[in-house]
Amino acid sequence: MKSTMQDAPLLIRDIVLRGEQIYGTKQVFTLTPQGVDVASFSQVAANARRLANAFARLGVSADTRVATLMWNTQAHMEVYLATPTMGAILHTLNVRLFPEQLSFIINDAEDYVIVVEETLIPILARVRSLIPSVRHIIVKGHDSEGLLGDVLNYDELLAVETDHFDWPDLDERQAAILCYTSGTTGDPKGVLYSHRSTWLHSMASTVTNSVGLSESDRVLAVVPMFHVNAWGLVYTAFMAGTDLIMPNMLFKGEYLLSMIEQLRPTIALGVPTIWNDLLRAASEKTTSDFSSLRGILAGGAAVPRSMIEAFKERHGVDVIQGWGMTETSPLAAVAIPPGASSPEEEITYRAKTGRIIAGIEVRLKDVDGQALPWDGVSVGEFELRGPWVTGSYYHGQGSESFRDGWLRTGDIGTLDAQGFMVITDRTKDVIKSGGEWISSVDLENKLMGHPAVFEAAVVAVPDDRWDERPLACVVFRSDQTATVEELATFLADHVVKWWIPERWAFVESIPKTSVGKFDKKVLRASYAAGALEITQRS
Ligand code: AMP
Repeated sequence: MKSTMQDAPLLIRDIVLRGEQIYGTKQVFTLTPQGVDVASFSQVAANARRLANAFARLGVSADTRVATLMWNTQAHMEVYLATPTMGAILHTLNVRLFPEQLSFIINDAEDYVIVVEETLIPILARVRSLIPSVRHIIVKGHDSEGLLGDVLNYDELLAVETDHFDWPDLDERQAAILCYTSGTTGDPKGVLYSHRSTWLHSMASTVTNSVGLSESDRVLAVVPMFHVNAWGLVYTAFMAGTDLIMPNMLFKGEYLLSMIEQLRPTIALGVPTIWNDLLRAASEKTTSDFSSLRGILAGGAAVPRSMIEAFKERHGVDVIQGWGMTETSPLAAVAIPPGASSPEEEITYRAKTGRIIAGIEVRLKDVDGQALPWDGVSVGEFELRGPWVTGSYYHGQGSESFRDGWLRTGDIGTLDAQGFMVITDRTKDVIKSGGEWISSVDLENKLMGHPAVFEAAVVAVPDDRWDERPLACVVFRSDQTATVEELATFLADHVVKWWIPERWAFVESIPKTSVGKFDKKVLRASYAAGALEITQRS
């Protein structure tokens, strides 16, 4: 029997309309080198309608790809709202990509318009002659050196348009947003979110068992808007009535600290390397005020327990760990402790990767594809299914990542009976030593708990006897150091003896990917090329 319920489509349009109607006075703060620009949701939505009129005049219609090369700003938000709502497809370009990757992605997506910020013009200029599908470039700011040839000016375009635009009725399954994976193995692959998936993902970010964003929140959005849609934040903010603080390109610890003290966010979102830098900046000041924060959402890479402890002990701030990937929109798991009986147990829950959220199904598979139990011990690959998980890649690439309707995440770890997952590695990063797995993530997290260690990355290197062994690459805090023996002794209290690396490299910094994760392929290549100075543990 069919239900009697209506079947209303889930559209980004309705998030925007409702957000403007009932949360019109909510605010967006954009940091600029001169100060802070403030706009209301009503102003942002009105600008989005002006922009939609301008886009329509330029020939943007259903399915046209509109790309952005922008930092976290109000203008970027306006493009986020206008593009999918008028039926076109928003494509955010990562400003940190190499020119070959950037032109590859623009051509793969067949972008028609690119909106670029003044400060990023040199990046686009390098590939301008290689991207024939791009008909219009709109500059927020000025191309004073004329690097891009014929361009349109963002503010001038909006100034001549009305703020009336009839957002069309759309199919909820229509593509709304195109994001590319970071392509650490092979070329980046496109993932197309729909209106429906974006709507449901936004809703999932508002429930208390996940991030629980609400009208009482003010979010510091440190996760870049070119990385998985800033974890869906713009749409969630409009759905939940959440103020947004946009740091523009000012992501350093010192800036973040002053934003936290002055604009008093309740929650801040970003990758662990950013939060490590914030801790450093705070430790260099005599006082710092974190009292407005109810939490720091950290994800995109493993969050070391020592970082969770440091935020709690030094600043009274809870770290909320989240897990997801471009393929999952990205939110899929959030580590909210289920009523811990002691502060120690609470930290233990927070140090898990995440608890799978409602709407996402998970299963754990061994190398032969056999299901593994949810016992917190068996190690396998996570596979996911759900309405905001992709079922394929754009242009049908990467079909090996899907198995009978499930996404193979390439993340390896354990799952317990309560649905908490702990990631121990990526499939491509596991260390297979004498037939047994060593978790690089575990070793890194433990090493980063040593007081002298600022960052540590562990990679597999070839070994005659054991096939592979871990190589630990360590960055010390300024003015601090430790010997290999001291670090090995420290590790011996935390991991089994045979995991402890023999090979160590003390480096100035760990190479990072375009989205701020440890770039382990660069470390492996440096080792193979003999470019790392190795200290051998006796
Ligand atoms: P991306 O698609 O660039 O967002 O990368 C997704 C990948 O980041 C995941 O497949 C994981 O390998 C990694 N990742 C995200 N969150 C976490 C986390 N909390 N702990 C460990 N790895 C994570």
